[in-house]
Amino acid sequence: MRCPVADLVAWVVKLDDDHHEVVFERSEARARVRGARKEGLDARDTEARREPRLDAHAPGPVPAQALLAINWWLECSHCAHRVEEEGCWRCADNADEEASHEMEWAPPVTRGQDVWCSEACREAEARERTERRLAREAVLAEVRQTLPSAEVASTVVTSGTGTVWLRVPGCKGTVKYEWPTGTLWAEVRDHAILLAALRRPALETWKSEGGAVHG
Ligand SMILES: [Zn+2]
Ligand SMILES: [Zn+2]
Repeated sequence: MRCPVADLVAWVVKLDDDHHEVVFERSEARARVRGARKEGLDARDTEARREPRLDAHAPGPVPAQALLAINWWLECSHCAHRVEEEGCWRCADNADEEASHEMEWAPPVTRGQDVWCSEACREAEARERTERRLAREAVLAEVRQTLPSAEVASTVVTSGTGTVWLRVPGCKGTVKYEWPTGTLWAEVRDHAILLAALRRPALETWKSEGGAVHG
């Protein structure tokens, strides 16, 4: 049976020295169990204390702003700096060194559970996310063009480079595609099948576990 939200109160569960979680539960014991579960810990290894100032946010999640307001510090979603209610000490210090004037605090930016040192960090993160999305689309389009029969198993894409692991029908092993070089990696026993599957007759380079093979 689910308990009504009105019964839930805020607990701060200490998971380790630097890591605290807010959970909403009816009792301390339940709070410890729930907090521990989030990190795969044993409830006996955690501590919980009441935090009435967060009760109004039941059943959670608690907005980042509300945590800053009760003097928590949070990590910037972009640069992992420590952000407090007044802002980020490290960013303020950097700005001070560059401009050589009074230490300048930029107000922190929050959105839901996310927090950033400043508008600059939020914008930088948004920009990087767009770059990664575009890079990912470019990589996958290139893979579809090169190996139309392949199925994408997994992808790791940053803004400038990408690796795609592929399952190619007939190949025993996973085929790796590197972007933007267009290099393919495959097991030696899969070479013939891979060549047949390739739309482009020859790639500039392609390599195998046994060493480079030039097609
Ligand atoms: Zn910062
Ligand atoms: Zn930041």
